[in-house]
Amino acid sequence: MAQILVTGGAGYIGSHTAKRLASAGFETVVLDNLSTGHRDFARWGAFVQGDIADGELLDRLFTSRTIDAVVHFAAASQVGESVREPLRYYRNNVAGTVSLLSAMRRHGVETLVFSSTCAVYGPPFDVLLTEDHPSAPISPYAKSKRMMEDVMEDMGRAGCLRHVALRYFNAAGADPEAEVGERHNPETHLIPLVLQAALGQREALSIFGDDYDTPDGTAIRDYIHVQDLADAHILALRHLQKGGAPGAFNLGNGQGHSVRQIIDAAREVTGRDIPTRMAPRREGDSPRLVGDASKARRVLGWNPQLADIRRIIETAWAWHKNETSFTPTR
Ligand code: UDP
Repeated sequence: MAQILVTGGAGYIGSHTAKRLASAGFETVVLDNLSTGHRDFARWGAFVQGDIADGELLDRLFTSRTIDAVVHFAAASQVGESVREPLRYYRNNVAGTVSLLSAMRRHGVETLVFSSTCAVYGPPFDVLLTEDHPSAPISPYAKSKRMMEDVMEDMGRAGCLRHVALRYFNAAGADPEAEVGERHNPETHLIPLVLQAALGQREALSIFGDDYDTPDGTAIRDYIHVQDLADAHILALRHLQKGGAPGAFNLGNGQGHSVRQIIDAAREVTGRDIPTRMAPRREGDSPRLVGDASKARRVLGWNPQLADIRRIIETAWAWHKNETSFTPTR
């Protein structure tokens, strides 16, 4: 049976997607260099440890298996780090993806679902962001994603690739069965940090800025459950396999929650105290990022099941309570 290659399938969104692909009846092979992914997250389908930049490894992989399509997550993904170490992002994300696309081309694989980001959008931010909103990525991370979208569009025009770029808003939550979840070292994302503060693993949650032009002064994001994101990849794959038109799709709930609203919801869900302290704005943060995903609903038939913010936090809480690998020093 033909397989789906999942690059970065040992990471946060990749592992949830590998699980959902397996339950939907797809055969998968995960390729991950484990630089940020976790071996215990790659538990569905076959696993190959390696890098997308390794052309010989890709040749062996594409020759020894029948690969139908690629779902491509493998990338460095920290905005702050990308500002400090831009080359790492252009090497891993851009050059790495070019290596993957070249191997796909050598082996006649033309179908790709790509993980992109809402960070490709530019101002104004006080609207529901649609796919045709002006693109103006700021960080090297977001620029690298935008560049890869451009490369894929050009390959599409040249008739050698059919791709869907999924522009995620804020991925959050964990597998409702708690088999996989969010584990980043170091952790920089709001919901896991809030829950680690609730668990007493961190002294206090720093609120990055309360002087934004938003109702409570803190920044607003559109949080989308990781399993709903995972399901969108399966729909995108089926869409391409049925001959659907390539393109970019937003994945969000269309509902904004401020940092303070997330902390309040987490206090309710956990029943714990969550100490906070004020901190300056984090460089590069937008005041508000909320997405219009009606195109994904209309064209892909996507229908998020876990949109409620409490439900999102509940699933994350169930995961973090049992997460033993937490290392506060890293
Ligand atoms: N945030 C915060 N304190 C933290 C981490 C994040 O106030 O310790 C804020 C951050 O400034 C942003 C929101 O929470 O407004 C979501 O940040 P996250 O890093 O989770 O995702 P991003 O939107 O940057 O992709």
